[in-house]
Amino acid sequence: MRHLIPQILRLLVSGKTGPFVFEPQPVVLPTKPSSINLYIHLPFCRQLCPFCPYVKEVYDPETSTAYQQAIIKELESYRGLWGEVKVESVYFGGGTPSLTPEIVTETLAWIKGNFRLGGEVGVEVHPLNASRSLLESLKKSGVSLVSLGVQSFNDRLLQILGRDYDSKLAKEACRRALEAGFATADIDLIFAIPTQTREEVRADIRYACELGAEQISAYPLISFSYLPFKRQMDRAKIAMPGWRGEREMLKMAVKTASEAGYQRTAVWSFSKPQAMRYTTVTKESFVGIGVSASTMMGDYFTVNTFSVPEYIRTAEKGLRPALATKLDTRDKMAYWLFWRGYDLAIDTDKLKSIFDRGLPFHIQGLLSLLSLLGAAKHEGDTFYLTERGAYLFHLIEKEYTHAYLERLWGAGLKEAWPQRVVI
Ligand code: SF4
Repeated sequence: MRHLIPQILRLLVSGKTGPFVFEPQPVVLPTKPSSINLYIHLPFCRQLCPFCPYVKEVYDPETSTAYQQAIIKELESYRGLWGEVKVESVYFGGGTPSLTPEIVTETLAWIKGNFRLGGEVGVEVHPLNASRSLLESLKKSGVSLVSLGVQSFNDRLLQILGRDYDSKLAKEACRRALEAGFATADIDLIFAIPTQTREEVRADIRYACELGAEQISAYPLISFSYLPFKRQMDRAKIAMPGWRGEREMLKMAVKTASEAGYQRTAVWSFSKPQAMRYTTVTKESFVGIGVSASTMMGDYFTVNTFSVPEYIRTAEKGLRPALATKLDTRDKMAYWLFWRGYDLAIDTDKLKSIFDRGLPFHIQGLLSLLSLLGAAKHEGDTFYLTERGAYLFHLIEKEYTHAYLERLWGAGLKEAWPQRVVI
């Protein structure tokens, strides 16, 4: 059943049957987008955490220099195609972008010199790198948002996750980031860690609130078959939390953040009122630069190769995603609706302005059913997901992420240029 989630979701949201098929294929991009959002993937880490599903490798100075040149080559391809297009936002994710701050600052300088940068710049910061001087230099180069990958303030849980710092260091890193004066400092936490209790979730969220983070993101730990974490837990005879335990932990996170005055801005995110949001994949369209980065533009969703050597080797040739899937209007609308569901609010007026059509009949029916079940409520032009609806979406998002990463990323990590991936 679990493997059918993406197809069931596709049927429910876009009304189409059949899986998404990703294949190598020529991609036609819009000739002149009015603006773009950039995501830049920097895959280097000091050490690799066993639970982490992202594309990363241990830092090596030579590879890192070659990689920096390759991402500029990829950016140059877009510059050649679109000229000095407006850039609404730039996010550096990883990997550990704060481990190679010179790539962040030099790439930003290149973007400012070649595009019209007019929005927020976000960077993921590892607690071990969050020195005052690094934070200041990021700020000076134009970074406005940071996201601290803390995962937990609990030493026992940090150890289970294989993190290479303790809670004291994590707390000090957060304090420094908050003092640095970014528009938003987000603290990233993980819940549903094996052996974690509800009280430990409460303590983590409460501490992040007490620190005064503008945003707190709390993601459930998802176990993937291609990662060592599950094997480690099996060997140690430690079980992943069951669905009931996980639900209780999520409830606790929501309650604690809400008691501290935070608003739930997405299924797994909480923000102070008026805080600028740190968010990447929820953008309507984006251009992904770097290894494993995905792009949603025009009629295509594409993914770059997952192999760092292959990415560097082929950079000279310009744009060449490893896999692509073509999207029609219904697919694009489904993609938009999926992420608005994650944001807990579906603005039907906005949908009309983007797609030039109203909410499809079957989606109206679905939302009415959710309203009857107490999972959604309709106010003006917007459908809001209630706490029950948010929990439903938590389950869907978790299963979809699992299926998407297991299949697409699993294939990309096995082969640099996979031939066909079906989700
Ligand atoms: S969790 Fe962060 S530091 Fe650990 S391997 Fe993943 S990207 Fe690297």
